[in-house]
Amino acid sequence: MAGFAAHILDEIRARVDIVEMVGQFVTLKRAGESYKGLCPFHTERTPSFTVNPKRGIFHCFGCGAGGDAIAFLMRQDRLAFPEAVRALAERTGVALPTSHAPPEPPGKLEELRRVMTLAAEFYSRSLWEPGGARAREYLGKRGVDTDVARRFGLGYAPEGWNALLTAMRADGVGEDTLLQVGLVKPRQTGSGCYDAFRGRLIFPIRDAQSRVVAFGGRAFLGEEPKYLNSPETPLYVKGQTLYALDLARDAMRERHRGILVEGYLDCLMAHQHGFTETVAALGTAFTPAQLALLRRHADEVVALFDADAAGQNASSRLEEMMADTMDIQDLGWSVARTGAFEKSGTLSIKVAVLPTGHDPDSLLREQGREALQERLEAARPLLAFVLDRTLGEDDLATARGRSTAHARVALMLSKVSNAEEATMLSREAARRLGVDATQLWIEAQQLHGARARGRRPDSGPAPSHPAAGPWPSPSFAERDLLALLLHVDEARVQLLAVIEDEDIAHPGLRKLLSALRNAPMAPSEALMADLETDAERGLLSALLVEDRQWTDTLIIIDEHRKRYDIRRRKQRIRQVSQAIAQAQAIGDPTLPALEGELRSLQREAEAVRELALTRPAPASPSAPR
Ligand SMILES: [Zn+2]
Repeated sequence: MAGFAAHILDEIRARVDIVEMVGQFVTLKRAGESYKGLCPFHTERTPSFTVNPKRGIFHCFGCGAGGDAIAFLMRQDRLAFPEAVRALAERTGVALPTSHAPPEPPGKLEELRRVMTLAAEFYSRSLWEPGGARAREYLGKRGVDTDVARRFGLGYAPEGWNALLTAMRADGVGEDTLLQVGLVKPRQTGSGCYDAFRGRLIFPIRDAQSRVVAFGGRAFLGEEPKYLNSPETPLYVKGQTLYALDLARDAMRERHRGILVEGYLDCLMAHQHGFTETVAALGTAFTPAQLALLRRHADEVVALFDADAAGQNASSRLEEMMADTMDIQDLGWSVARTGAFEKSGTLSIKVAVLPTGHDPDSLLREQGREALQERLEAARPLLAFVLDRTLGEDDLATARGRSTAHARVALMLSKVSNAEEATMLSREAARRLGVDATQLWIEAQQLHGARARGRRPDSGPAPSHPAAGPWPSPSFAERDLLALLLHVDEARVQLLAVIEDEDIAHPGLRKLLSALRNAPMAPSEALMADLETDAERGLLSALLVEDRQWTDTLIIIDEHRKRYDIRRRKQRIRQVSQAIAQAQAIGDPTLPALEGELRSLQREAEAVRELALTRPAPASPSAPR
């Protein structure tokens, strides 16, 4: 598949220690033959992520992600298949044949990455060349040190319409590719393209592996818009990247803490003042994916809020931040309740509010690192913060104020999806409001019901996990049959011949069946390489991790064989019947022969059917011979 010989892939799989590899990202605990941990691909508090070293696979029962070591690396580091294979080959010392074969055309993603790297180099060069004087002057005015600017790879997009285009052309990069990564835009009139970033300070956005995936461009001469960002591309999905994560992750691990700010410059200045565990959310609300990224490196996250943002609208803003992300609510509430972080991988979210009129950048420039340190130390758990704000907005000394606060808390409670957490929260709120906790909780439930009814029907009830695949869950019978085929060799020998792909209604399982058919003697986990999508690999890993004792397999296989044998015969009977109808219509002379075949088929089918009905049949009169 994709240019690598099967024996090379097998060799890599055999050599890689999947527990050790996954263990770099997930804290794994032994559980029988497998290892368990918190899934790195969705937010959860109880481990449903399993690694099975014997089969060399992982599977998450929460979100359905699964596959082998290669699939894990593809997901974890967002690599294309060849990239993941190459990374693992290097790691395991498996030699990839590169010199003999003609060079592979680089994968699409790899080509896009190359272009992003070239563009980042171009912007960076432009900043430090004479033409970048004004941009450097601006950085100086903002107090950004040269070494920090270099560490963050800052650049300058020259003015004019085609500085980047021209430079890229010299490197053999075409307009099509530049369009794909959003670095140029098509001209409104005439043909051709022009540079998307012009006369701007450039902030490369890099992923955790320090690969440039997007750019942010800041105007510094008063142009609009102030910030311009790369569009979403195959390399860059908004809400799944944290700015400066590559620079911050070591410090996060050391200090067990991440600091979350909003802007590029806030982030830069924080690093410059020694808060090297700082990342920026890139203007979006926190997403579950971003929190999952943070959780891999830190136990605690302190979100820095501007005073104006944290002022009157603080609670609504925080609610907005958490809106529609039930996972985050679960996460935030659960931790804030205990107020401490647990080593199990739960992430503590705290909120630090900055003095009025300051963002992190201005606070650091004007008052130095101690001022920010003070604020960080005063950070409050998210729940306590939101509750304080909610209660603080009304005058609790008056009946009217209490009643408004009561309603507000009930509304807030109604958004907490976890019943246990909601109960804890309602107790705390009730204590402070001097009301009955049960009453508060019932009101919240009513509000929750009303909100749920108001939702679009297809959005369903509180989705706490990403969908396991593009399909509905398979039927128990089909799932069971595929599990049998994957786990029991004898089943393949006996059944692959009688089962047809069309017998399996579930599209994912059907894919597994046909992969199995193509390699009936291969170990089940080797099928991973033949599957094309994450969903298919997830389905396979789900079936493979089942720790099931197979008993009476010969009897089960026999039952299946008979069932599908009957189905094949019925199919044949239908076909012959149709042929007879046709022959009758056109007066075909082969009609008697067909009728004879049909009779014998029917007789055989009956005989097989009676043999197959080993269990008492439900009140259907047995047909006479
Ligand atoms: Zn998961």
